[in-house]
Amino acid sequence: MAALEVSELSHSFGSLDVLSDISLRVGQGEFVSIVGPSGSGKSTLFHLVGGLLKPTAGKISIGGEDAVGRRGLIGYMPQAPALMPWRTIEDNVVLARELGGVRKKEARGLAREWLSKVGLDGFARSYPHQLSGGMQQRVAFLRALLADKELICLDEPFSALDAMLRAEMHRWLLDIWEQNRRSILFVTHSIEEALLLSDSVYVFTRRPATVLERVEVPFDRPRRDEVVDDPTFIR
Ligand code: ADP
Ligand code: MG
Repeated sequence: MAALEVSELSHSFGSLDVLSDISLRVGQGEFVSIVGPSGSGKSTLFHLVGGLLKPTAGKISIGGEDAVGRRGLIGYMPQAPALMPWRTIEDNVVLARELGGVRKKEARGLAREWLSKVGLDGFARSYPHQLSGGMQQRVAFLRALLADKELICLDEPFSALDAMLRAEMHRWLLDIWEQNRRSILFVTHSIEEALLLSDSVYVFTRRPATVLERVEVPFDRPRRDEVVDDPTFIR
């Protein structure tokens, strides 16, 4: 059973056809990327998968269940992530997980461990406005990764980070992915980033967006230490 199965999905905003007849699949434990230029409908696809929008036509199933219009099924990092300003950083990372039934102490421990791994040691009790944009982005990234969902959707998660930090985030992402074998759908406009991280890549053309083909990444994924040792592979 696929983590995500999208079939013949179309979406229009009024007369603007953004997605037309998109089919794609993320298998259990797979890391799949979508690459496409700005305006090709990548974020719209995520809004549909996350249940924030209902498609004009087509099917979406998550873990074998109909997911059209259903929120809360995925770990999701939107392109412009909003943290809850009245909650601490730690709460922002693990609230969803706690509500999902994980014991509070365990969830807090996990939050602190990962906050320090992404360079935010000592910020657990701070509030979002006390952090820079790039730091808030890392918090939103952890929130999606630690939400304890089978499918994690990340919409250009590292676009505001410098090359050095981005390379480190790649390592953490692969690390958590290898440890937990969650299924990941990753959106980026960088083909290099997609090829570096993914098992396979879908390409969107400009609108009306069309899936051209699924490209199986032909070489072995670099080892994690190589990823972090070479921060220059993307611009
Ligand atoms: P991408 O993420 O690939 O840059 P988007 O999915 O954000 O592309 O946008 C695709 C197209 O849909 C763009 O032309 C955008 O202006 C349009 N669009 C996105 N959201 C809306 C909306 N809520 N209402 C009207 N048009 C929208
Ligand atoms: Mg977008």
